[in-house]
Amino acid sequence: MTPDPDDVALGARLLSGIPTNEARSPELLRTVAERARAFGHRLADLDAPAPGDPTGGHRVVERTGGLDRDTPVLARFLHRSGTIELFTDSIAFCESLVDTHGWRAHFPAGSVRAAAVLHERAHHLLAGPYARDLRVAVGHPALRIGRWVHWAHVAGAEELAAHAYAARRLGLGRSPLLVTAAASAALDRRARTVKEASTWAS
Ligand SMILES: [Zn+2]
Repeated sequence: MTPDPDDVALGARLLSGIPTNEARSPELLRTVAERARAFGHRLADLDAPAPGDPTGGHRVVERTGGLDRDTPVLARFLHRSGTIELFTDSIAFCESLVDTHGWRAHFPAGSVRAAAVLHERAHHLLAGPYARDLRVAVGHPALRIGRWVHWAHVAGAEELAAHAYAARRLGLGRSPLLVTAAASAALDRRARTVKEASTWAS
């Protein structure tokens, strides 16, 4: 069995799949992945919600139907209401993948849900008070005019930072990105199978 890629390699792979990153070299994307991960860990250390309030005051609601969408969804942050929406069918699917892949030592039972909540909290922080800090931390200056530096937005960096934040807050052995990447691959395979089946049927 081939070993699972490490978190930074997985992160760089995610970044390389985003169209606006196509012209960026593999070395740059690996550096961005490394720095986004380190930033997510630092943010987790900075952000210390009160004991008994791990989500930092966000309301959490549960829904189903996350896997039925054109773009499957595990969780999302509704900015207007400050609510975290969790999709229970997607969470159950990811938990089953943890067992299938033998990753239980990295992701104890229930950690997919906990990580999804914290991931969305991180998105909330990264979209607001820490947006510029993240751009500076991933260190990709787009433009220098004298002493002014405009830091480029590298699409996907906030995603990697959010995963790293959740992993650190929960003390997980691996980034939950490992599970979401496996879920995407499994759903892609399933979609292809359905498509092939319907081609045969027609
Ligand atoms: Zn995300």
